[in-house]
Amino acid sequence: MPELPEVETVAKGLAGAISGKVIEHVTVNRRDLRRAIPDGLEKRLTGKRVKEIKRRGKYIIIEIRGENTVILHLGMSGRIRIYAPDESYEPVKHDHVILSMRDGSKIVFNDPRRFGMLYISESKDWQKDLPFSQMGPEPLDNWSARDLFQKLSQKKVPIKNALLDQGIVAGLGNIYVCEALFEARIDPRRLSSSLSLEECDSIIKAVKSVLERAIKAGGSTLKDYRHVDGSLGYFQNSLSVYDREGQDCANKQCGDKIRRITQSSRSSFYCPSCQNAHNN
Ligand SMILES: [Zn+2]
Repeated sequence: MPELPEVETVAKGLAGAISGKVIEHVTVNRRDLRRAIPDGLEKRLTGKRVKEIKRRGKYIIIEIRGENTVILHLGMSGRIRIYAPDESYEPVKHDHVILSMRDGSKIVFNDPRRFGMLYISESKDWQKDLPFSQMGPEPLDNWSARDLFQKLSQKKVPIKNALLDQGIVAGLGNIYVCEALFEARIDPRRLSSSLSLEECDSIIKAVKSVLERAIKAGGSTLKDYRHVDGSLGYFQNSLSVYDREGQDCANKQCGDKIRRITQSSRSSFYCPSCQNAHNN
């Protein structure tokens, strides 16, 4: 599933391609996604100008002038293709929504597994709608160790699970949580409420560093908008623990092997020596 860095890159690509442009035509081929595409979508968007495109958590926020906001989530397998004004659209299986802009450019939402979502927010201010009204801080903005520490102090779940909770921090998924806990040298099984303020600070620094590297790697794909597709793990070649069960620990002095365990039916990857459960 695309996580914060992938969604950020798709949002930037979309912003570069359609911000300020007028939507000339909306085609919906299939409405039954995880959340059904609303019936009035075509009518509500046709002739409207795209104001601004942002990201919040794993969601892409498309603000439309004179209209409520379009919310896009890529789900498990969602992809965005962008066509420049001089390129012709080539239909592909599972192209569910096509936005044709007045200048001839097009954006296409393709999603084979249909876990994605594309809908219009119900309130004037999208931030007041669920899930945004209950979403935790953006990890790259003003995320403080004190805030994390306070939230974790009431959590009787492993730190791995807590960091996947979008109410604690927005945008993280399995890959980057595993990587950040390795970088912070914290065992994924540690009870959230047992972490010190200093350890919360280490986690925040590690999360920021892992996300910033991934966004930088993803940014290189922006040179060609057609490749802004939300592909998984932009810096997959430099992952330290994720999907590396049985391989040597990335820390050269360690000598241990990466281990895989299951937590809340999802795989966690960690180094038993570097991420010591008893280091509190
Ligand atoms: Zn190690």
